[in-house]
Amino acid sequence: MDKTPIQVLFIEDSEIDVELALRALDQGGFDVSWECVEVEEELKRALSLQRPQAILSDFSMPGFDGMEALRLAKEMAPGVPFIFVSGTIGEKRAIEAIRLGATDYVLKDNMRRLGTSVRRALSEASERELVRIGEEERARLVQVLEATSDYVGISDPSGKIIYMNAAGRKLTGAPPSGDVGKSASDIYPRWASERVEGAGRHAAERDGLWHGESALLGADGTEIPVSQVITAHKGSDGAIRFFSTIARDIRERKAYEARLQYFANYDPLTGLPNRSLLGDRALQGIAHAKRAGRPTALLVIDLDRFKLVNESYSHGAGDTLLRMVADRLRGAVREGDTVARLGADAFAVLATDLARPDDVSAVARKIREAMHSPFWLEARDLHVTVSIGASVYPRDGEEFDILLRNADAAMHRVKAEGRNGFQFYAAAMTRQATDRVELENELRLALGKGELEIHYQPQVVLADGRIVGVEALMRWNHRGRGWIPPGQFIPIAEDSDLIHPLGEFALTEGCRRIRAWSDAGFASLRLAVNVSAQQFRSAGFVEAVGRALRAAELEPACLELELTESVLVENREEAADILKRLKALGVQIAVDDFGTGYSSLSYLSRLPIDCLKIDRSFVSRVNERGHDAAITQAVISLAHSLAVRVIAEGVETAEQLEFLRTHRCDQGQGYLFSPAVDPEAMAKLLAAGSLEPDEQSAAKLK
Ligand code: C2E
Ligand code: CA
Ligand code: CA
Repeated sequence: MDKTPIQVLFIEDSEIDVELALRALDQGGFDVSWECVEVEEELKRALSLQRPQAILSDFSMPGFDGMEALRLAKEMAPGVPFIFVSGTIGEKRAIEAIRLGATDYVLKDNMRRLGTSVRRALSEASERELVRIGEEERARLVQVLEATSDYVGISDPSGKIIYMNAAGRKLTGAPPSGDVGKSASDIYPRWASERVEGAGRHAAERDGLWHGESALLGADGTEIPVSQVITAHKGSDGAIRFFSTIARDIRERKAYEARLQYFANYDPLTGLPNRSLLGDRALQGIAHAKRAGRPTALLVIDLDRFKLVNESYSHGAGDTLLRMVADRLRGAVREGDTVARLGADAFAVLATDLARPDDVSAVARKIREAMHSPFWLEARDLHVTVSIGASVYPRDGEEFDILLRNADAAMHRVKAEGRNGFQFYAAAMTRQATDRVELENELRLALGKGELEIHYQPQVVLADGRIVGVEALMRWNHRGRGWIPPGQFIPIAEDSDLIHPLGEFALTEGCRRIRAWSDAGFASLRLAVNVSAQQFRSAGFVEAVGRALRAAELEPACLELELTESVLVENREEAADILKRLKALGVQIAVDDFGTGYSSLSYLSRLPIDCLKIDRSFVSRVNERGHDAAITQAVISLAHSLAVRVIAEGVETAEQLEFLRTHRCDQGQGYLFSPAVDPEAMAKLLAAGSLEPDEQSAAKLK
């Protein structure tokens, strides 16, 4: 049998005793290599050079004390078995020696036991070494776990947390050491708890591992998104011993993803949706348009001469301007509409839920108006104009890309035609809409070119045909198209800011004309002027009326302003206030087109009104003995009870005249007496003083 090699250090003053011990070891099956020391210095040197596998020491030597040797050996070579081999050690001291760390003691007269003792000591030492290595390893692992920034936790199969590393304790606010005191469901928000305890644990039990995203509940109650791994640790019997989980804080990644998401959808300079998000919104808009049957429009808006801004202002001014433009665009459109930035100086507006394709013109107009006042850029006023092109779903395309391309093409045509304007995609799309745009552009020039005129229609006393007033009606003598009736251009003017100069023209020109007629001897003639809602509510309207009267030196009572019911009914308080101010000027107020607006008479009766104009539609049917006749009759008597004058509009036949006379309608106007005529013709009628009803002429006019 092979002998066990062993390295032994003797602490012994007697060579014979060493010899005896060597023999006993040899007999015990050891192949010994050895060294022997006698004093402290030698022991220190020997241990510092080499670590023996066993130390065999005498107890009492002349130059060295055994207990001292033991202390030194424990210090310098811990874990090395230390066995006393002595003839003299007594019971008491032996116990003391063991207590101080000696492995064993062997009496010199029982040397045979030495082999066994050493062998046992060696095996115990190697076992201890294994445990020590294991403990060291564990300590290292715990150190690593404690140092990692990820959350690490271990829970027993019931879900009670039995370990949580430093990062975990910090995150969840668990006490720094000792009992964690939390169960797995305490550290997750509800939804995450359901995911982890449910899907996560099941998968881990089945597959050994689960990986997913969840969240931990931070110490302050905030949710911390984590990426998590749960492992089920099983014993050799297959039963689960514990679960471990590692969770990584992914707040930064989430924030980064959110930022990416933002930049994928928004323009960082202006904060507006970008082309991609506009595409999504357009898709929704188109879906809505399909369901609701209402058009959706896409407008492309490009700043004119933006390059000049970059060239003539300092660096960054262009960006500032783009931001300001973005703000104004946002302010110009409806809440549900999308303003987007397409690139450089190009923007887009998605306008949904329009009543008719034509409404796009109104959107474009609002956008152009929004750009009207100058931009204050680097202490200078900068005037910006835009070119706008529009396309409408479904007319100009059924898909976003096509709508965008077509709106863009229309915008480029505006650029080519001198910028600062608006165009629909194809000219043929709706003749009307383009016409409207064209008409608006031409109407803007018409005033200056003197193409607008005021014609006058006489208002007569029904009883005798005496002319007591005239209604001013605007006419447009278009160079290319001939006479354009106000029904065609007044609504366009009302949709744009043009109604203001037009309205003022009617007012001043009318007053001037009445003055001239009065100077010519046709005294006390009343002038009726139509006033649009926009005019009525515009700041400075009352003042403009005053100005027109003064300029013509006209008696205010000679001027009657015709307002429709809807103007008076909408925003009643404001309307009443404006009326009060007009009455203070001394002018008269007529309600135009009365009967068509469903307004309550009791409401109107509280307003300072001088005249009701019964709408033509009633007058034209008074002889049919239907309810139009009844209404007309009722209106006349009611007006009389309120001491308000009544004028019947659109009197065309002798029969109508007869009916109106019978029911004591005061005055009337209509083709039966005269259509609106130019000032020269009107002067001739005035010279005659009164008008004879003329059915034949009236019939020709119809
Ligand atoms: P309105 O105020 O109801 O004007 C009366 C309209 O009826 C006039 O049409 C007139 O020519 C027409 N008319 C008069 N007698 C008869 C008749 O016997 N039979 C028929 N079928 N029609 C008759 P016009 O001149 O085309 O004006 C249309 C509308 O345009 C006016 O309706 C008024 O609302 C508006 N308008 C005209 N001039 C002005 C203006 O200077 N300012 C504003 N804001 N609106 C104006
Ligand atoms: Ca009128
Ligand atoms: Ca009318």
